Amino acid sequence: MRLRTRILLAFLPLVALLTALGTIGFAQLDRTGTRIDAILEENYASVQAMFRLNEALERMDSSFQFALSGRTQEKEAEARNQFEAYWRAFEEQFRIEESNVTIHPDEDELVTRLRTLKDDYRRRGVRFFAPSRAQTGRHADYEGTPGDRGLLGTFREIKVVSGEILRINQQSMERARDDARHTARRALVGFGISLGALVALVFGIAWYLLRKILGPIRAVTEAAQAIGGSGQLDREVPVFGRDELGQLAQSFNAMTAQLRVYRRSNLDRMVRAQRTAQATIDSFSDPILVVDPGGRVELANPPAQGLLGVAPVGSDTGPMWQPPDPLRVPLADALQAQRTYQPEGFDQVVSFRSGGEERTYLPQIRPIRSPEGDTLGAAVVLNDVTRFRLLDQFKSDLVATVSHELKTPLTSVRLAVHVLLEETVGPLTPKQTELLLDARDGSERLLALIDQLLALARLQRPRDETTFTPADPAELLRHAAEEVRSRATDKHVELALTGNEPTPLIAVDATRIGQALGNILNNAITYTAPGGRIILAAGSEADGRVVLTITDTGVGIPAEHLPHVFDRFFRIPGQSDEAGTGLGLAIVKEVVTAHRGEVTCVSEPGKGTTFRITLPAWDERTGAHHDH
Ligand code: ATP
Ligand code: MG
Repeated sequence: MRLRTRILLAFLPLVALLTALGTIGFAQLDRTGTRIDAILEENYASVQAMFRLNEALERMDSSFQFALSGRTQEKEAEARNQFEAYWRAFEEQFRIEESNVTIHPDEDELVTRLRTLKDDYRRRGVRFFAPSRAQTGRHADYEGTPGDRGLLGTFREIKVVSGEILRINQQSMERARDDARHTARRALVGFGISLGALVALVFGIAWYLLRKILGPIRAVTEAAQAIGGSGQLDREVPVFGRDELGQLAQSFNAMTAQLRVYRRSNLDRMVRAQRTAQATIDSFSDPILVVDPGGRVELANPPAQGLLGVAPVGSDTGPMWQPPDPLRVPLADALQAQRTYQPEGFDQVVSFRSGGEERTYLPQIRPIRSPEGDTLGAAVVLNDVTRFRLLDQFKSDLVATVSHELKTPLTSVRLAVHVLLEETVGPLTPKQTELLLDARDGSERLLALIDQLLALARLQRPRDETTFTPADPAELLRHAAEEVRSRATDKHVELALTGNEPTPLIAVDATRIGQALGNILNNAITYTAPGGRIILAAGSEADGRVVLTITDTGVGIPAEHLPHVFDRFFRIPGQSDEAGTGLGLAIVKEVVTAHRGEVTCVSEPGKGTTFRITLPAWDERTGAHHDH
């Protein structure tokens, strides 16, 4: 049943009851009213008639007395007229009473008696006023004689009877009045009771409706609060009936069911994604771990768990991961500034002992960003480079050993060639001289190569013997320039030092920096045509570091080769006839990096090239590099 129908139906008995009560009350009131009216009207008419009848009777009686008091002609006529007139009045009132008998049978009988008396009275009156009647006879007529009651006696009897009629009518009126009062009181009590019942019924219906309507609404409200407040999606609302509220409860339950399905599928998807992520990182043999923005470990594959002793925390309140010292700052950078840490050189490896052997890892730290750019955490990957490092070491050692072993016999060969060319051991034919000159050039080139290789090998050995001393940058440049001046002069290339602003001292291994500057200067001379210039300058950066620049007006380096000039054995093809190994700039890079400096190259083909070396200043207090 629909709610509207139910409300309407609940009010229906109320309306019916009200109608019934109203009708009954109305009818009752109307009935008592008319009955009382009728009774009062009829009785009142009788009472009035008796009053008037009595009055007429009195007048007739006085007409007799008047006629007895004197016997003149006029008085006689006047008395008779009075009698006649009041007789008519009397008769009329009697007729009224006769036709208005209400109290049977008492009144009937009284009226009959009155009629007899009335007729008797009339007969006596007519005889009294008969013209032939003598005065003495009249007295007897009026007073009566023993055995005859006379006019006066009849008069008295009529009075008694009419008084009786008057009395019973009055009595009847009083009874009617009491009756009416009684009925009214009864009706009042009935109405009161009905009204009380009606009020009780109204309350009953209202209570029923409120319970029917408010109960389900309250249940839905409570369930909605439970869902909104604490996500209790398992709340069901009881469904009573199929009315609008029942439909509401049903829809509500359908909604929570749908939400449950939705949440479960979301949870499933999340769990699946989590498992996939875990399986993915587990499939790598390198240690991988993921930390949340608060630095707690969220995921870690078995190698990471074994090596670093970490385990996923699984909550937002667990302890933070304490990374090994070298990773502390890069990790904080990744989480706070979303900076990627990806070193490439073996000098930034971290070592861990695991299973009794020392292993070397190249760490990588990458921030994890949401599409909106928020930091979701950071991924830490430790690439196991133990083998590569050993191989690299082995290669360097091999090169160093081979170079070293080659150098001694080669030096003897070069010396022998020189001695032969000086002809101190005997004259040479021109053909022999030509061959020996070729051999000398070859051995010189070989020796230069071996020197370069040895220098590189020395640089790559673990830094132990490197000692830094304070040096004046301008002085270093001047010294390097003097070393190559004769070569420059031979090639007609101008070599100049500019910029005399005071610069801070720098911390250097003077021999190695000298070697690096020498390599750059030799390149500049080689790749600059006669008539060109090479300018050396020292200056300081805004942050206090020192910059050394070497600029030439040579052939320049094409843009596509610029990124490779510092690579080992790299030479730009077809740029120069002169011999070279392509190791010069690689050594420069090694030396400068060992000084915690940077070297860059800017060049414009056909115009010239500039090399910039930035080095940290000497720190008085620590006697070492001044770090920023
Ligand atoms: P070596 O090992 O004997 O020095 P190299 O001079 O050829 O041999 P690098 O000094 O490493 O090797 O230089 C690499 C390459 O860069 C050179 O072959 C040359 O092509 C280019 N280059 C270096 N300096 C300059 C320069 N100042 N102007 C033009 N090209 C240059
Ligand atoms: Mg060179």
